[in-house]
Amino acid sequence: MDADEAGWERLSTVRVVPPARARKLAKVPFVELADGRLQGVVSSGSDIGRVYVSSISAGDHGYNCRTNNNRPCGGLRGAPCKHLRSLADEAVLQYGLERVARYLRVEVAEGGDLVGALDGSPESADAAVVFSRFLRHLAYLEVPGTTVPVPELHWFPSTGVAR
Ligand SMILES: [Zn+2]
Repeated sequence: MDADEAGWERLSTVRVVPPARARKLAKVPFVELADGRLQGVVSSGSDIGRVYVSSISAGDHGYNCRTNNNRPCGGLRGAPCKHLRSLADEAVLQYGLERVARYLRVEVAEGGDLVGALDGSPESADAAVVFSRFLRHLAYLEVPGTTVPVPELHWFPSTGVAR
């Protein structure tokens, strides 16, 4: 991997790269390649008040999924849960499969199954760190009004019409 790019990804707190393809932000409001992980925040499928913080480490592919209250995800039973799959799917939409695979250091054929290609096991990770990055990410969105659409704001249920 290009060292400069790795540094840029580590330092970046705000996405400046437009998504490779349009994403549905309601499901995965936050996804990033940072701190040596693919990590992000995934909405609960059943409870709109709950989110999961999911991560997959680059290299050893250790994975973790916890609620924002730092409780273990019930769907994580020796294999990646649906939140991790959603996270991986959204990362591919956001960054493109090739870039995500390169970051995680995994071999995936074009159009292949990223999660299926991983061979990691559950690892401990601090959901609070990722969640605070998500909150900081949201704080960046509290910027002066603009009439230009801000893709991140589509996460909110009703963005209304720009005035
Ligand atoms: Zn989960």
